[in-house]
Amino acid sequence: MTRAHPAIEPAHIGREYFGVDGAPSELPGYVDVNIRLDSTDGRSWVLKISPRTQDRATIRLTEHAIAAVKSSSFLSPRAVPTSNGEPYATLPDGSVARLHTWVNGMSYADQGHPPGAACSIGRTAGEIVQCLSAIDTDVHRPDRLWDLRFCADTVAGLSHHLKRADRRSMVDAIVDRVASIPFDDLPVQVIHGDLNTSNLLLQDDAVIGVIDFGDARRTIRISELAIACAYAMLHQDDPVAVASQVCSGFREFSRPSNTEADHLFDLILGRLATSVCIAASLSTDNPHQHDTADATWELLARLTSADMDAISTELRAAALGQGPAEPDQQQIRKARTVLGPSLSLSYDEPLHIMRGSGQYLYDHRARRYLDCVNNVAHVGHSNRRVTDAAVKQMAVLNTNTRYLHENVLRYARRLAETMPEHLDTVFVVNSGSEANELAIRLARTVTGRRDLVCFRDGYHGNTSTLIEVSPYKFDGPGGIGRQRGVHVLPSPDAYRTPRFAGPGAGANYGADAERILEDTSPAALIAEALQGCGGQLVPAAGVLEAAYGVAHELGGLVIADEVQTGMGRVGRAFWAFQLFDVTPDIVTIGKPAGNGHPLAAVVTTSAIARAFDNQMEYFNTFGGNPVSAAVGNAVLDVIFDDELQHNADVVGAAIMDRLWSLAERHPQIGDVRGAGLFIGAELVTDRESKAPAPDVASAVVEYAKAHGVLLSIDGPHHNVIKIKPPLVFTIEDADRLGSVIDHALGDQVPDR
Ligand code: PMP
Repeated sequence: MTRAHPAIEPAHIGREYFGVDGAPSELPGYVDVNIRLDSTDGRSWVLKISPRTQDRATIRLTEHAIAAVKSSSFLSPRAVPTSNGEPYATLPDGSVARLHTWVNGMSYADQGHPPGAACSIGRTAGEIVQCLSAIDTDVHRPDRLWDLRFCADTVAGLSHHLKRADRRSMVDAIVDRVASIPFDDLPVQVIHGDLNTSNLLLQDDAVIGVIDFGDARRTIRISELAIACAYAMLHQDDPVAVASQVCSGFREFSRPSNTEADHLFDLILGRLATSVCIAASLSTDNPHQHDTADATWELLARLTSADMDAISTELRAAALGQGPAEPDQQQIRKARTVLGPSLSLSYDEPLHIMRGSGQYLYDHRARRYLDCVNNVAHVGHSNRRVTDAAVKQMAVLNTNTRYLHENVLRYARRLAETMPEHLDTVFVVNSGSEANELAIRLARTVTGRRDLVCFRDGYHGNTSTLIEVSPYKFDGPGGIGRQRGVHVLPSPDAYRTPRFAGPGAGANYGADAERILEDTSPAALIAEALQGCGGQLVPAAGVLEAAYGVAHELGGLVIADEVQTGMGRVGRAFWAFQLFDVTPDIVTIGKPAGNGHPLAAVVTTSAIARAFDNQMEYFNTFGGNPVSAAVGNAVLDVIFDDELQHNADVVGAAIMDRLWSLAERHPQIGDVRGAGLFIGAELVTDRESKAPAPDVASAVVEYAKAHGVLLSIDGPHHNVIKIKPPLVFTIEDADRLGSVIDHALGDQVPDR
């Protein structure tokens, strides 16, 4: 629709028709042209010029609505009659001019969508509904586009403008839901019709003004609440909680019926879908119409991938003033037993995650969480380049390594290029455990020995052999202790073992290792450069070097387990072992390689690979298939193109800085350590004794979760807060993380 640009100069219209003198400036508008007029004595107005074709009854509806809210608790525009006392003037070209007083204030959108305003927004919507219920009219606007009663038709009719198939299927799903609403059963009255983020003026989280009554229409009453909720939910971490707040404010003035409450959520979806479909159907010359489209798509993606029936039930309860229905945790846990009881769940009240995007995860209620722990979604959850690469290759070919395929050759070449020169041969496998298992097989075959060496508290995978080299498991609950042929070196813990800190650390560690390994002939030492499960440890200079040195002296190989730490996470190097002066013989790679797709690798020397080729054929059904290799290549592309290693370095340093400054105020922080985005904060009851504080760590993790930040705990004493987020983490995320930990610890210890 083209807007009616006035043939007459706006200042002239103000003077001639309304008797006001003001300098004009154009405001955004949809159908009407809106012009602000500012007089020299500080008064302002909005001059609204509607096209000649604009229905007069519609114009009168707006004026009725403005009059009806005159005595409300919020500010609203007043209609200024023409010099002849008419409500509007017809200009020579047939267009219609009206003048409204200007309402001063900053909009909800301009103030950054503060969630604390939700209740007040609801109250305002309720008050408007109450005021406008007095308007006695049967007039229905002829335009139906924004009337929620017709949203199924509107959306279905416009969805062909959406270019992306995923977006079309989102709105199709919404059409299905709104098509079954019994509109005839819903009460009708005049409503404002557009309580969007720009039309609500706010001060200190309270609505003080409402503007733009140009969308007033007679339609189903509940759409006022649905529209207010829809816009209030944009840009929110917990949109459903915000909508519930809007509902509770609304109820102070206006009580929805059961049937209205039943369909509230679907109408919210209907409004959001209407908004994006109309935006897509319009030419892009009016930025006002596209302003909220991105945020709306983001919200729609979250809501439609969440448990929509659960959200609908929650909002129904909120609209009716009933307490939130508690999710039946017992039921959820029970349902999971089909996966076996030993699978562990995080958090007192487990999360039900439905969607991921970048550094965010979204639960079944579309609540957004900042993910600070997922080191698998290395380049961000659901990364589009990675997903596209998988889908594209999956549609063409997926076989195994019995055939040559460029994807796997390219992947192997590129992985080898990231390694020191001697590590030039790559086996592509499916998991970190499989990589370590193969690495051990390589070492045993090549050395002809069986014994293995590992670090205390280390974890290397879930197979029988790997549990035997994972003291974190075999010395933990349910473990059966160390097996014959396994030798355990001390944990390279510079915080709890002063001998392994400072200048003498390497020599001390080397002496211990020599003593423990005396008279042994190990096939290999398997070790992480920075222990993950072991407590996010950073060994002191010389310690890792000493361990490698002793293993090599005894004729063993060294396997560097980079499953957690690899691929740029540690910031200053691509691989964590490169932070030290060591030379592994085999490197294992897992978690980040496929960004969630099962992809892992073993990289070794050509000499070891040759020695492994002892006539026993090596075959791996899924390892190195073209789809996995396409995914691996895409992950590397994103890491390099988006400079994620550098980002890990910069953002990781920012997190460490914040944690160190928190340590000045919170004595529970005993140690902060890490490299890049691989960080641990060890919590203690007091710094002298270093007594672990696992309860404080659990409380911090639960507090952070309640505030939309996901953390978790590592370390043998369950007292190390681990931070290893997707590498797309930002400085703003670092600030938020710091602030949540600050508040969490503040709650633990009263101000002293
Ligand atoms: N090595 C290390 C250091 C790990 O942390 C893990 C998994 N936590 C593994 C190996 C095993 O990897 P996966 O779970 O992919 O088998």
